[in-house]
Amino acid sequence: MSVLVVGSVALDSVETPFGRADDALGGSATYFAASASHHTRVQLVGVVGSDYPIQKLQDLAARGVDLSGLEQMEGESFRWRGRYRHDLNSAETLETRLGVFSHFRPKIPPQFRRAKYVFLGNIDPRLQLDVLQQVEKPTLVACDTMNFWIESRRADLLALLEKVDLITLNDAEARQLTEQANLVKAARWILSKGPRTVIIKKGEHGAFMFHANRVFFAPAYPLEDVFDPTGAGDSFAGGFMGYLARTDDLSEANMRRAVVFGSAMGSFVVEGFSIARLLEITPDDISRRVAEFHRLVTFDAEAL
Ligand code: AMP
Repeated sequence: MSVLVVGSVALDSVETPFGRADDALGGSATYFAASASHHTRVQLVGVVGSDYPIQKLQDLAARGVDLSGLEQMEGESFRWRGRYRHDLNSAETLETRLGVFSHFRPKIPPQFRRAKYVFLGNIDPRLQLDVLQQVEKPTLVACDTMNFWIESRRADLLALLEKVDLITLNDAEARQLTEQANLVKAARWILSKGPRTVIIKKGEHGAFMFHANRVFFAPAYPLEDVFDPTGAGDSFAGGFMGYLARTDDLSEANMRRAVVFGSAMGSFVVEGFSIARLLEITPDDISRRVAEFHRLVTFDAEAL
């Protein structure tokens, strides 16, 4: 089963304590696609401006990402500039330039409309809603968002929540959206607005998956060197959705495995700038890391 992603395709300029990158490939759809392509075929819908180095996306096409839904419009590409200080868990946005995104209306190509797994990456919630009108009966629709949209498009975001099955967001976003300091209460608040599943990511402290009366937790992989945290959330989502689409099984046990695959993919992307590590890793690297996650959380409960 393939997965459809609609999101930003950006040029990112990022500063971390370990270096900087200017106008590097970024955006929610780019990271998601690079990650999910390790698990299944990906259909990408997005927009870039006339200044985008489209040939650099060929690495994604070579990995089985169908770029026929990527539009190129006259104007400037979406650009995000951010900085991480020593707390690598939170990005400081220095500048967001919407460029062609401000006139973009996603057009889902006819061959993508029957996608069973749909990921609405971090973009204007009005565009996320627009996509839902164009797809036919998906099995699972998941969305992401961020502070920028929680502040500026709250009503649209609440309307979107009524229509999605799952949302992924980080702890700060969950608190901002729900005005609840406690994450269990925040998750309950979000569940009451529509989604059946809420995933709250806590950066290097792992991720929680909440259902109405069940909760699962996966740690983050204890990496010694984190180079650039940009894209960890989208790569998590790509691993999670890619694994679900490949296995086409929404049982609780399989969704738990998907969280671990998401965490594994998030742990790779932060080892380098942009999508570089996602283009390097092999299926063996992924299997080894998933096995290490298993060792990390397994303990002998017999003596209890
Ligand atoms: P994350 O996975 O949460 O680290 O997301 C990182 C990506 O989000 C970067 O590559 C940015 O280009 C993208 N991004 C940042 N701000 C926005 C925004 N307001 N809308 C869409 N994408 C954004």
